[in-house]
Amino acid sequence: MRPIYLDNHSTTRVDDCVLAAMLPYFTEQYGNPASVTHSYGWEAEAVVKKARDIIADTIGATPEEIIFTSGATEANNLAIKGVAEAYFSQGRHIITVQTEHNAVLDPCRYLESLGFEVTYLGVDRFGLINLEALEKAMRDDTILVSVMAANNEIGVIQSIEKIGELCHDRNILFHTDAAQAMGKIPLTVKNIDLMSITGHKLYAPKGIGALYIRRKNPRVQLSAQLHGGGHERGLRSGTLYTPQIAGLGKAIELAEPTDKIRALRDRLWQQLKDLDGIHLNGHPTQRLPGNLNISIENVDGQALLLGVQPTIAVSSGSACTSAKIAPSHVLSAIGVPDKLAFASIRFGIGRFNTETEIDQAAKCVLATVEALRG
Ligand SMILES: *Cc1c(COP(=O)(O)O)cnc(C)c1O
Repeated sequence: MRPIYLDNHSTTRVDDCVLAAMLPYFTEQYGNPASVTHSYGWEAEAVVKKARDIIADTIGATPEEIIFTSGATEANNLAIKGVAEAYFSQGRHIITVQTEHNAVLDPCRYLESLGFEVTYLGVDRFGLINLEALEKAMRDDTILVSVMAANNEIGVIQSIEKIGELCHDRNILFHTDAAQAMGKIPLTVKNIDLMSITGHKLYAPKGIGALYIRRKNPRVQLSAQLHGGGHERGLRSGTLYTPQIAGLGKAIELAEPTDKIRALRDRLWQQLKDLDGIHLNGHPTQRLPGNLNISIENVDGQALLLGVQPTIAVSSGSACTSAKIAPSHVLSAIGVPDKLAFASIRFGIGRFNTETEIDQAAKCVLATVEALRG
């Protein structure tokens, strides 16, 4: 038997309805949406338009404000480097947060190497940024603030509408990485200038995502990062990946209330919370419905993960970087000591999980800890 999949923050299984919506665009309607001279092209263009309309509608944007990318990494790179290049004559200071995904941190570090200055805001023990600290960090030469909507490790949800308001008060652009938030929590582009999303965290395939780019009040200028045929209004050249785009549109259309997932998450925590020495990492309530991140005292992290591995597929708060084990930068930022970061488990509960699986997962964790301590 394969382990129970509880790693839905890493990626999700493609929903069967999403796959069904994609298949015709591989074999029958295989035209290039840029071909304007025949019906193969028109069919492909029609499904791209439909997906773009669905995404725009869902987040309160217009279709012209949606650019397809290969995922959130590319969307973040386009947003951050694109703004930096377009606005550098107005300022070279960017503000982001220590707990961002590397797909935000690495472009920021790259820009530092080019002479930009980046402020990495800290967070409180729940993972939330302090809005006064954000305001204090804003300078006359600040061109961009980037704060993720929901964190991929501890699931904490930032107040992005409020953050965007503070940015707009100071005429600073606001980008949010919504890779984890899209389809999980209510999300609109109110006060947001740029927003990254990705398909494979919401039951669409890997290799497709989108960037929202505000066109009015203010109209955001971006420098393209991929040059070629001038697709996507010159902002992202490359033949549109029609099947993936059809899948992304379908997945967003299918996104449903997450009460069931929240109930499963709460069911898991109910069964674990009385374990001696257990800690909940992150915010008790302001978090993604499918997220549970725990640390356990008095067990060896490595042994804990090895112990649960045959039964459940989960992530841990440590990352192996070239043979050296490092604690998660997110857990470190919220003040979790290294030892507890190593002995942590991130559960990502998704649409396809069942109550039986949750009960088995809880039993597995409790039994493993007992065995290791005994
Ligand atoms: C998964 C993830 C990404 C990367 O998205 P890809 O589509 O895999 O490039 C970026 N940010 C966050 C918060 C994520 O969870």
